[in-house]
Amino acid sequence: MTLLDGRSLAEIIEKQIIAQTDLFRGQKVVPTLAVILVGEDPASCAYVNMKVKACERCGVVCVAKKLPQEITQEELLKIIKNFNDDFEIDGILVQLPLPKHIETKSVLEAIDPQKDVDGFHPFNIGRVFAGIDAFKPATPMGVMSLLENYRIPLKGKNVAIIGASNIVGKPLASLMLNAGATVSICHIMTKDVGFFTRNADIVCVGVGKPRLICADMVCEGSVVIDIGINRLENGKLVGDVDFEAVSKKAAFITPVPGGVGPMTIVSLLQNTLLATKKRKIENNKKV
Ligand code: NAD
Repeated sequence: MTLLDGRSLAEIIEKQIIAQTDLFRGQKVVPTLAVILVGEDPASCAYVNMKVKACERCGVVCVAKKLPQEITQEELLKIIKNFNDDFEIDGILVQLPLPKHIETKSVLEAIDPQKDVDGFHPFNIGRVFAGIDAFKPATPMGVMSLLENYRIPLKGKNVAIIGASNIVGKPLASLMLNAGATVSICHIMTKDVGFFTRNADIVCVGVGKPRLICADMVCEGSVVIDIGINRLENGKLVGDVDFEAVSKKAAFITPVPGGVGPMTIVSLLQNTLLATKKRKIENNKKV
């Protein structure tokens, strides 16, 4: 069994990002990411802190805007508009989930698609679906680069994706389909998830339920990508896969933590650099 070591790969990619930001600085171009956090949900705060720290390590300026839980939708949209209009800001990220009184769809649609480094704007979602140049959502993008770096082929492979959210399962299915895989997407309504996983060469799970995927659900020699993040009562962080048992059957498997998580963060930085390059170097025009 080979461990798909996202942490080590992310460190290598971070070094490439640092080299790129150094090059940009030589051209007086400073990659800048705006991160908006509404409220104080502990998991969201932790994710935002990880993103801010990664920016610091990589020479990306991070403008973190922490807003109160009670902020109105109108006020939030105004802040996004200001970031859209600010030439210095290359990427805008709104940490999800948002409080219930704010309509997520309207907020995501308010972000300039050229600065949508999370790839959640319908413009980018559509382009990813069609297989054309776009900002890809960071988690599916991280999964794809992990597979690519370990030279795991996708063409003609059967892939089962468990979890069909707009940020994980659906875009991952598009990317895999466009890479030549045959993709099944399972979700809460799927009658027999095991039927799909047992017939898959590659199983990707992003649901948020510990031990959802156990050993009798995967075939010998499969590739298992665990996207789930769950905090157990004892404080331990685990994925959705019963790692102990499944790793005995899988040929390749991601650990949690240290698998898809770090790849998500570097993918966000790669998207930010892409936005910087397109806006400040290729276009070189004020917005
Ligand atoms: P979500 O709640 O939006 O979506 C969950 C999906 O799982 C839904 O499609 C739902 O139908 C499906 N589902 C629920 N129960 C199921 C079951 N018993 N069988 C099959 N499908 C079931 O969640 P999300 O935002 O997509 O996140 C999913 C998980 O991925 C969470 O654990 C989250 O923390 C994690 N996540 C990790 C990263 C990362 O960087 N590693 C990034 C984003 C999300």
